[in-house]
Amino acid sequence: MKVVKFGGSSVASDEQIKKVGSIIADDSERKFVVVSAPGKRFDDDVKITDLLIELSELVLQNKSVEKIFSDIMERFADIINKLELSNSILIGIKQSIQNTLDSESSDQMKADRLKSIGEDSCAKIVSEYLKTIGLNAHYVSPKEAGIIVSDEPGNAQVLPESFGKLYELRKRDGIIVIPGFFGFTNNGRLMTFPRGGSDITGSIVAAGVQADLYENFTDVDSVYAVNPKIVSNPEKITTLTYKEMRELSYSGFGVFHDEALMPAFQAEIPVCIKNTNNPASPGTMIVSEKDPRSRCVVGIASDTGFSNLYVSKYLMNREIGFGRKLLQILEDESISFEHAPSGIDNMSVIIRDSQLTAEKEINVINRIKQELNPETISIDYGFAMIMVVGEGMMSAVGIAEKSAAAFAEANINIEMINQGSSEVSVMFGIRKDKLELAVKSLYHKFFE
Ligand code: ASP
Repeated sequence: MKVVKFGGSSVASDEQIKKVGSIIADDSERKFVVVSAPGKRFDDDVKITDLLIELSELVLQNKSVEKIFSDIMERFADIINKLELSNSILIGIKQSIQNTLDSESSDQMKADRLKSIGEDSCAKIVSEYLKTIGLNAHYVSPKEAGIIVSDEPGNAQVLPESFGKLYELRKRDGIIVIPGFFGFTNNGRLMTFPRGGSDITGSIVAAGVQADLYENFTDVDSVYAVNPKIVSNPEKITTLTYKEMRELSYSGFGVFHDEALMPAFQAEIPVCIKNTNNPASPGTMIVSEKDPRSRCVVGIASDTGFSNLYVSKYLMNREIGFGRKLLQILEDESISFEHAPSGIDNMSVIIRDSQLTAEKEINVINRIKQELNPETISIDYGFAMIMVVGEGMMSAVGIAEKSAAAFAEANINIEMINQGSSEVSVMFGIRKDKLELAVKSLYHKFFE
């Protein structure tokens, strides 16, 4: 039995939903279906979720919502009419948006409720469409399905009691269609996952119902060894381990939400990434263990938007509690950090730019100066991170040497190197303007 999840581009239009229908009809094992909200139909298009977020922001600013409300309704009307589904679905969508706008809930809760309407409506549309092609499909809300989450608007996490409840769904007849991206707290409040979170729902459902396979349908034939926007026609990855996928999606592989793997991983459910527009292609399998003879480096991931907080102080290595105090200051400012490579007398803390504001930066610098008395302190923007990823590194010799040679050949200075002892990846920090060149050179070294 399989859980299938369809991403935004797979449900962006009536034509795409028809493809979804035939993929489900093609394989009777596809019993649980999780859907995103309709995404982009073309490059410059806007995702329904983004329209809903805009709507909630206008509400917050007390501005007129008429135009955006009607844009959203138009998108849904187009899909519903072209699929020749009952107009009552459209009326229902309009009503749930209106009810949310009129409700007394807090701004944050309103925003989460509005955001969830994209997926919720899509699941209703897909299940009705599946009925028209002769399938016994039912819409099941995350509340009824038992997706219980923490009380963190826009950033919910699944709670363990969900899995037992989801298992009960196995008893249900027919095909179950569940909206992705949100769940309910124990008090019945709707909370969304972080952006891209329908993948998380798919993974939770797959773990809960103990699926034999979790198929994640997107719009690419497979996961590629490197960003195809940087290297044309890169190698396709046929098999990846969970750990490798986690590393790759953390650092810029947009195919899969980086938090989505954990539930499937813990329940040991294999995952297959497939293409809605080319379902015959075998896709990329994600499994717990793979053939030790396979390639040791599977992919090269890269991401920008990092800053380096650099602190140096002579004899830092002997000052007990230095690192803790430094990180405590970040914690007090609610800043999470990504990596913390250190030297004898210095420490760098790599932070995502999105975590920093001008005010937080001033506070952090002032407090470090006062409390840690460093010789140097700076925050440097414009960093890019490149990860060379592969579990095979554990037993291979010379990966760092090969990588360093690739940087040297491209005449790029490595500002930072970081490798945990798990040896699933080596991370290199460089200036962001050199990113493409570095990625190309690494790809050439490891794959060509
Ligand atoms: N619709 C949500 C988003 O755009 C969740 C998802 O598609 O996975 O972030």
